[in-house]
Amino acid sequence: MPLLVMKFGGTSVADLDRIAQAARKVQREVERGYDVIVIVSAMSGKTNELVGWVEGTSRFYDAREYDAVVASGENITAGLMALRLQELGVPARSWQGWQVPINTTDQHGAARFVSIPRDHIDAKFGEGMRVAVVAGFQGIGPDGRITTLGRGGSDTTAVAFAAAFDAERCDIYTDVNGVYTTDPRIARKARKLERIAFEEMLELASLGAKVLQTRSVELAMRYNVRLRVLSSFEDTDETSGTLVCDEEDIMESKVVSGVAYSRDEAKVTLVTVEDRPGISAAIFEPLADAGVNVDMIVQNISERDYENHPGAVTDMTFSCPVNQVDRARKAVEDARARGLIAYDELVVDDDVAKVSVVGIGMRSHTGVAARMFKALADENINIKVIATSEIKISVLIDRRYMELAVQALHDAFELEKA
Ligand code: ADP
Ligand code: ASP
Ligand code: MG
Repeated sequence: MPLLVMKFGGTSVADLDRIAQAARKVQREVERGYDVIVIVSAMSGKTNELVGWVEGTSRFYDAREYDAVVASGENITAGLMALRLQELGVPARSWQGWQVPINTTDQHGAARFVSIPRDHIDAKFGEGMRVAVVAGFQGIGPDGRITTLGRGGSDTTAVAFAAAFDAERCDIYTDVNGVYTTDPRIARKARKLERIAFEEMLELASLGAKVLQTRSVELAMRYNVRLRVLSSFEDTDETSGTLVCDEEDIMESKVVSGVAYSRDEAKVTLVTVEDRPGISAAIFEPLADAGVNVDMIVQNISERDYENHPGAVTDMTFSCPVNQVDRARKAVEDARARGLIAYDELVVDDDVAKVSVVGIGMRSHTGVAARMFKALADENINIKVIATSEIKISVLIDRRYMELAVQALHDAFELEKA
């Protein structure tokens, strides 16, 4: 039988009524003749609550125990969804990650898939089961311990199952009816896209558009999964939502196709670092070992010698998620205490946000950066750090101007127009 993967995010399974609504969507696909693998998230707010409990118990927590706790949210939803489907007369059962087993690497909190054996679930489909409900976001590591895939990881579970089971499509049901030019909750003028290229979606996701987890887009691109984002609250059919697809399959072409933001960033600066070979490695190796996700890096060498610093000196600035600032500070201060690096001062600005414009058209157009900076200047928004790649430009700004910046950029690139 043809097979579909249907993923329901947190708000789509927020309570028993929502689970019932989602189950009816699954039932409809079963009636159309599909076998279905349903991937579920934890009920909305649940994962945040579990993370809060871990952090409230232990400041520098053991990541294995973090995973043991936060993976549990999805287990509840999986069981409830299977029960609801059974109530509707649909033969269904639930699986936790380790039961499949979803084998992952041992990077707790950010694990990656190693393999998803099909035999167990295939055997049950063979016996007449029509729906396998699998807990998203989790797996089992090589040491037999529960792992999780990083926030938003159920999207990736869904795509991985679609690839492993050769699904006809992977449908991501969520609380918006597709991928928009920017977060529709921030910009009223945001426009829903019919299609978006894998590469653009990849950038938007990695720059903060949480509608899809970055890794899920990477996997879909690699394994050619037909990936669609659509609403769990509206009536939907084969044409609903947004299709994430190859660049060649897109008619519309704009220089910039979307604006993304990431609210909870921090900027860390090591003031007057000695400028010598090996200094960057000496700073960023301890940060990597401490599990800090360093994003932007700016090193600005001073052309002048400072009085107290006979050799050349530099300021080194990097950004990271705001909830990793404690770890970052500790890693840098420990490296200094061990004599690996020297600097005058460590300055942390934990009140910044990152705003980015993304578009494959940037490869062949000039002037995008100038237009972006002008739009921000017109709103009197100061840019603290700039980073670019082939198809994106990102800036760090004060967090209080984030929404204003997103709207100003959406206007400047006329994204409301098709
Ligand atoms: P789920 O719980 O279903 O996984 P998420 O909250 O993770 O849902 O992702 C959906 C949210 O992503 C939307 O509610 C929306 O606010 C946000 N979002 C950010 N950028 C975009 C975008 N470009 N298009 C659509 N939604 C976006
Ligand atoms: N429940 C997890 C989270 O909130 C995974 C997910 O929903 O995709 O991050
Ligand atoms: Mg999500």
